[in-house]
Amino acid sequence: MEIILAKNAGFCWGVKRAMDIVLKTAESASGRTFTYGPLIHNQEVVDALAQKGIQPRDDFGGIREGTVIIRTHGMPPKVKKDLQKKGLKLVDATCPHVSKTQKEVEKHYKKGYTVVIVGDLKHAEVISLSGHSDDRAFVVSSLEEAERLNVLPPVLIVAQSTFNKEIFHQIVEYYKKKFGSVNVFNSICRSATNRQKEVLELAKEVDAMIVVGGASSANTKRLVQISESTGVPTYYAETAKHLDVKKLKKFKKVGVTAGASTPDWVINEIIEKLKKL
Ligand code: SF4
Repeated sequence: MEIILAKNAGFCWGVKRAMDIVLKTAESASGRTFTYGPLIHNQEVVDALAQKGIQPRDDFGGIREGTVIIRTHGMPPKVKKDLQKKGLKLVDATCPHVSKTQKEVEKHYKKGYTVVIVGDLKHAEVISLSGHSDDRAFVVSSLEEAERLNVLPPVLIVAQSTFNKEIFHQIVEYYKKKFGSVNVFNSICRSATNRQKEVLELAKEVDAMIVVGGASSANTKRLVQISESTGVPTYYAETAKHLDVKKLKKFKKVGVTAGASTPDWVINEIIEKLKKL
């Protein structure tokens, strides 16, 4: 079997940077170290960090000391203030790409713009972006949702960094037609779109595709959708133990890609398992 690994498989630069910050903080911090929610959408990584004493936590109710690391998705300003008031130290590992979008949202919101975020309402990045508009932003994930909303100009449109580019453009065009002009901050991350473009090309070259990543990772799910859209048989696996190789025996050429929060060791285990075929 020939195995082709996508060039952009695995950690993006924002996640690599966050991992470095987390590991350095864990070494130097006195007291307990937490991440605000799971650092990334990958259980393998979250478990490995927990073994180093870095615990994910959403609720800091009874906690009055320690360090909280803000993950790549960022944190709403109100939550930041509440944690600081409790006496917790904050370390910011928000991806710089997401920080830029947060600043645009805040700047325009303060100037009186209606902020529209194109993304998934419950995604941590969208929650952090919305927090920069005092939670007054409108969140839409489809053109139909945008059409149903009664939004007043002036409007700023931003996107969740890993969101579908085509849907974002449809929504932008809809608002442009409706209001004549709108402010658009295209915050879809190039690292995510390059990975998606590469899957599209790789899927056309191989007999089957394997997409590796966390079960709750939005960008991994998107890679699966893109690969499936080409018609090539696509197999999703969170880790090597979830990959059923019996189904893959019949293929001669297999492509492998992975979401932005998938560590190299998980990808390598998958490759090793395939090599045995
Ligand atoms: S996908 Fe892009 S925005 Fe998200 S963490 Fe990676 S580099 Fe940052």
